[in-house]
Amino acid sequence: MEIRKDILPVLRPVSGVEEIASLAETLESGWWGKGPKVAKFEEEFAKMVGAKYAVAVTSATHGQDLVFKALGIRHVDVINPTISFMTTAAVPLWNDCTSNIVDVDPHTLNLDPNDVKKSLRINTEAIIAVNHAGVPAPIAEIREFFDGFILEDCAHSCYVPGAGLQGDAAVWSFQAVKTMPTGDGGMITTNSKELYEKLVPMTWLGISSTYSRTLATSSLIPGNKPGGYNWDYEVDVLGYKCYMIDLTAAIGLEQMKKLPKNLEYRRHIQSRYNNELDMKIGRPAWSETVQYYCARVDAEIRNDLINYLADKKIHTSVHFKPLHLYQIVKQNREYPVADQEWRRLISLPCHPGMTEEDISYVIYWVNQYFKESHKREKF
Ligand SMILES: *Cc1c(COP(=O)(O)O)cnc(C)c1O
Repeated sequence: MEIRKDILPVLRPVSGVEEIASLAETLESGWWGKGPKVAKFEEEFAKMVGAKYAVAVTSATHGQDLVFKALGIRHVDVINPTISFMTTAAVPLWNDCTSNIVDVDPHTLNLDPNDVKKSLRINTEAIIAVNHAGVPAPIAEIREFFDGFILEDCAHSCYVPGAGLQGDAAVWSFQAVKTMPTGDGGMITTNSKELYEKLVPMTWLGISSTYSRTLATSSLIPGNKPGGYNWDYEVDVLGYKCYMIDLTAAIGLEQMKKLPKNLEYRRHIQSRYNNELDMKIGRPAWSETVQYYCARVDAEIRNDLINYLADKKIHTSVHFKPLHLYQIVKQNREYPVADQEWRRLISLPCHPGMTEEDISYVIYWVNQYFKESHKREKF
């Protein structure tokens, strides 16, 4: 097969005329900041998830941090999985907690409940459970022996039915290569009214939104004209600055409409890879979102295969190099499962921007690699 000229990216967002029209409408409306589009996005997202409340933020990373700060999770121990993105190890550190990184299940690469149990410390008060590649983390099993706070990291689960409802709160990501991208952005969902009411002002320095004050029909401030802009506010909590703006929500609302179709296509890619790739390729646990198609190969040839595919203009990635290997969160213990499995991981291209020919192209060259290396062994 002829080698393509352009690079086939491992992940990429896809937009259409709908996002452009929605952005144009928002730009021309004169309200670019947090306003009606964010309110609608929060409402529709909460409905999709089946959660009572949703708070839109600038990223899942800051969303997780805000949940920690709203609940006062500080100076305690926080368990999180080693196969994850840096966010889940860094957020506990931002809050002066210990980042207690544990090993994973060899099949799902999610938290291993047995290792969670063994790793519990006297001051372990929270667990961040990542649904790796969209496969649900074993939260019910962990609940059997842990009654502290569980934050469900749904960065890869948008949207798996039931996701976000197992943890005490869930945080979702709309980062540029996640399943429902807006460029950057995140959402916190919860059924706790108390947590919701704490979170909202904390997204903007403890201040209530200017949009709600623009809409106010009567003013609480003596001297303010009823129906005018209510410029004054009280601040009684320390907040941050991480609310989503309408320009972002304008993209999110359109991406959300396309989500079922995009997920169906991701699952189609997953099925084709599962059915057509060489049997030497280890298949990942089935995912409803296929945030990543994390194939597994022999650790000895993994990097060679990455280079071989790069020569064919196919980009791949690794999700993820274990967190315990990074200096900043190095731990004083062993990770037998993660240390073995991550060297076998190779994420193949999977996104709605791929054509059937692109999928066939990946399958052809992966299979060709094994045919050629078989030949090399033989002669
Ligand atoms: C992407 C990702 C995040 C961070 O999401 P942002 O919106 O980029 O902050 C958190 N956790 C996991 C597992 C992720 O993959």
